[in-house]
Amino acid sequence: ACPVGAINEGDNTLKFLRDLATPNKIVVTQMAPAVRVALGEAFGFEAGTNIEKKINEALRMLGVDYVFDTAWAADLTIMEEATEFQERLEKYFKGDDNVKLPILTSCCPSWVKFIEQSYPDMLDVPSSVKSPMSIFSTVVKDIWAKEKGYARNQITAVAIMPCLAKKYEAARDEFSRGDNYDTDYVITTRELIKILKETEIDVANLEGEEFDNPLGEYSGAGIIFGRTGGVIEAATRTAVEMLTGNRVDQIEFDVLRGWDGFRSAEVQVTEDVTLKIGIAHGLEEAAKMLDKIRAGEEFYHAIEIMACKGGCIGGGGQPKAMKKKEVLEKRAEGLNNIDRSLEIRRSHENPQVLAIYEKYLDYPMSRKAHELLHTKYFPKIKG
Ligand code: SF4
Repeated sequence: ACPVGAINEGDNTLKFLRDLATPNKIVVTQMAPAVRVALGEAFGFEAGTNIEKKINEALRMLGVDYVFDTAWAADLTIMEEATEFQERLEKYFKGDDNVKLPILTSCCPSWVKFIEQSYPDMLDVPSSVKSPMSIFSTVVKDIWAKEKGYARNQITAVAIMPCLAKKYEAARDEFSRGDNYDTDYVITTRELIKILKETEIDVANLEGEEFDNPLGEYSGAGIIFGRTGGVIEAATRTAVEMLTGNRVDQIEFDVLRGWDGFRSAEVQVTEDVTLKIGIAHGLEEAAKMLDKIRAGEEFYHAIEIMACKGGCIGGGGQPKAMKKKEVLEKRAEGLNNIDRSLEIRRSHENPQVLAIYEKYLDYPMSRKAHELLHTKYFPKIKG
């Protein structure tokens, strides 16, 4: 029975509580960037307040065995995406007609489903890199578990997400080994709030605890994934330094920021190379962008599309907000503040990401990295 009562089967809260109460199950959580700047709204904090440490402590009080962070996997995602971007760009600038541009970031499952259903002729464009959620769960089950001496099926990998569509992503067959899914299930920010309220955990007054390591260390680039323009800004930070071979001082790309639903920006990389980047949030705006690309009216080297307004901070699993725009701006600023507060702000400088290449994956886009971190997309019938 539900140990706290009042929680029904309609969501994954009961499943989560059951797993936490089951002996011999190793429950591992990851938390998306957007969750930490929104969950506090249900406990009296201003929108945008980062309460990740309190959430970590609360998860341990509930019985979670390992408390990790999706932002760590966001940095690993960028290593692969920026390398793929660099490879496509180098071929493009050498005049290779076969190279596909723009490259699209592909960490939003609603957007991936949208392109599979409505733009099947453009399926060779998205980056083949899995989303940070799926990369995290693959690494936990196929690398970390082995290192710890656990069998894959001993691990219950739970993703705490701002997003309803991530439940659909977790259940896609591409992200499973037989009937063992990489991500066992997703609980949303709102579902976690419900659990914390029902279990009467006094979140506001917790001291706060750090993430477990090694899958809990993230860079500023990994954290801005949660807002519109953040994934492409994180990728640009790494791609520009890969392309030039130089460390760049100005890594806040203001041209990539903003709230217009569909916006274009240019990033000067060298005297001769300027990247044209498109950003859309909201699927109506995404359709406008894709129609222009398909018709040859616009050209971009790279694009980012997020299905929700504002990006994941405005996800369907987040706390509802009366003054939506104002709250989204505060959540976005909360993520920007975390980024600015960190010493490491580039994904390619995250020591725990470099360590996993050194120990297991060799280098970005290696054969091993392809096996574990990349996927394929398929045309799908609407419905
Ligand atoms: Fe989910 Fe929305 Fe983020 Fe896409 S933009 S991953 S649908 S929360």
